[in-house]
Amino acid sequence: MIMTCAGCDRAILDKFLLTVLDRTWHAECVRCADCRNILAERCFSRDGKLYCRTDFFRRYGTKCGGCGQGLSPTDLVRKARDKVYHLRCFTCALCRRQLSTGEELYLLDDARFLCKEDFIRGKSAPGKKPN
Ligand SMILES: [Zn+2]
Ligand SMILES: [Zn+2]
Ligand SMILES: [Zn+2]
Ligand SMILES: [Zn+2]
Repeated sequence: MIMTCAGCDRAILDKFLLTVLDRTWHAECVRCADCRNILAERCFSRDGKLYCRTDFFRRYGTKCGGCGQGLSPTDLVRKARDKVYHLRCFTCALCRRQLSTGEELYLLDDARFLCKEDFIRGKSAPGKKPN
């Protein structure tokens, strides 16, 4: 009986095959569906597709409140209220400055926030600029 590879649907004729998700694969077909790297160690799966750790968490992990990409366990993150952000996405919505740890920030809406200076500036000059 000839096994077929779950990755490429071709027969597996080599002696070396892998069993992943209860299916058989060519060793070189066990690749991340996103970055195409061979998954030599740990692999993650969803909907019959295989992913490396990075891509799996980018797709299915907690999403960053700034850029909407998934957060990988190796990413440095900041939390604000119930949202989590990449460190690089933790920026003031106006001046785009990255806010540092412990710095005061002011929520604009669900996902955006301002640094203290911009918040104070916005408060002192609300609405439209005078002509
Ligand atoms: Zn294959
Ligand atoms: Zn990958
Ligand atoms: Zn982000
Ligand atoms: Zn700012």
